[in-house]
Parts: sequence; structure tokens; C-alpha cells
Amino acid sequence: MLSGTQMPELKKLIAKLKSHYGSPTAPPAKGPFKLVMWENACYLLPDERRAAVFQGLRKQVGLNAKAILKADPDLLLALATMGGMRPKVRVFRWQEIARITLSQFDGDLEQILKLPYAQAKKALKQFPNIGDPGAEKILMYCGASPGLPLEWNGLRVLTRVGYGRWQKNYGAMYRSVQEALRPELPRKAEAIAQAHMLLRQHGKETCRDKSPQCYVCPVKELCMYPVKQVEMFSRTSSASSSQT
Ligand code: SF4
Repeated sequence: MLSGTQMPELKKLIAKLKSHYGSPTAPPAKGPFKLVMWENACYLLPDERRAAVFQGLRKQVGLNAKAILKADPDLLLALATMGGMRPKVRVFRWQEIARITLSQFDGDLEQILKLPYAQAKKALKQFPNIGDPGAEKILMYCGASPGLPLEWNGLRVLTRVGYGRWQKNYGAMYRSVQEALRPELPRKAEAIAQAHMLLRQHGKETCRDKSPQCYVCPVKELCMYPVKQVEMFSRTSSASSSQT
């Protein structure tokens, strides 16, 4: 088990997560346009349902801007209904994605991959439901990410394990983890995407926000959090016994 302020090797941490959870599956969407559509395929439903809507769009409509704008709105609505609540809003968003792609990118969103990272992110953030984390994830799946983008689950796991500093300010915490990770980042885009997905899965299933399941955790030997909890418990106990 780790002690002090040691960090585990990222490579070792990810390898243990992979052997516990198996190889994660990347979205079936390839390229920025399809990934934007993937993000907008459904609302608050599991990935299997997202995949069903996405495949429906691929087979029955065509996953390109022109085909979406030309498609029968009733067909789009039927597919959007499979994707959960507020299907009409979803249809409007799909058409909006197609409109932006045609009007600003000549129908070819691939061209943003040639832009500097900050500009590519800005371009993606024009699309519905795509904020900073979404844009970073899309660029990561396109192999155009300079680092390891993290959503809340992955960030929490790495902070508990020992990277960066736990802070109330999310941006400051994010930057501290990114700084600590920098020397250990995998070079290959596929390895970056796998690390992102495994950390997310671990945060959702085991290293939960309110109740981390440390006793069954596959990386507990590499993690600072249980050590710190024991230290905190000992300090609290000795403080209360000295008062009695
Ligand atoms: S030991 Fe606990 S805190 Fe550390 S990664 Fe595992 S579940 Fe999270």
C-alpha cells in the first residue's frame, strides 16, 4: 500500500482497472460529426439505448448533415422517441447539428481536426449539448487530444488515488491533476481513450462519490485514500481521548 504523498504509476493503475473491468468499448461513432450525434442520440438512458438510436439513424436516415436535413421529420421523431424524454427537442437538435455543419463547415466537420486544439474545442462547443468536457472527449476519440480529458468520475478517482489536490474549486482541482499526470501520459490515442473510459467506469461503479467501495477495489493497494482515512481517524480518536 502507498504511504506519504506517493503517486502510483498511471500505467499500473490503468492495467489493474483493465484486468478488473475488461477492455472498455469505445462508442461506435467515428469522427467529430458522428460523435456529436452520438452525444445527442438520447437523454439519460444507458449506452445500449444510445447505440440503438444511433444505429437507427445510420440505417434509416444516414449519418451526415444533408441526409439529416432532408429526412422525414416523422421518421426522425420516431427514432428520437426511442431516445427518451423530449423527443421533439432532440429532433430539433439533430437538425441544428446538421445546419451548423453545412453552414459553417461545408458539411465536413472533419476539418476541425486540423485546427489548433483550443479552436477545435471552440468549434465543437457551438453544437447542442457540447460543453468543454464533451468537446474534449470528442477530440480524444478522434485522436486529437493533447492530454487525458477527465469527467467528474475520472477526476475524483485520480485525486483520491493521489494525483493533484482535492479542492473546492473544480477548475483548480482539474488543473492540479492534469499537472501531476503530465509526465506519465500515454502516447497512443487509443491508450488515452482507454484510460479515460476505465477511470470513468471505476468512478461510477466502485470509487463512488459518496461511498467509495474501497474494500472491494481492484486498485486499493495503489491508492492513497484508505491510508489518509486511517490517518484522519487516528488523529480524531487521539484528539477526543486527550479531551476525556
Ligand atoms: S481504494 Fe477506495 S478511494 Fe481508492 S480508488 Fe479504490 S474505491 Fe477509490
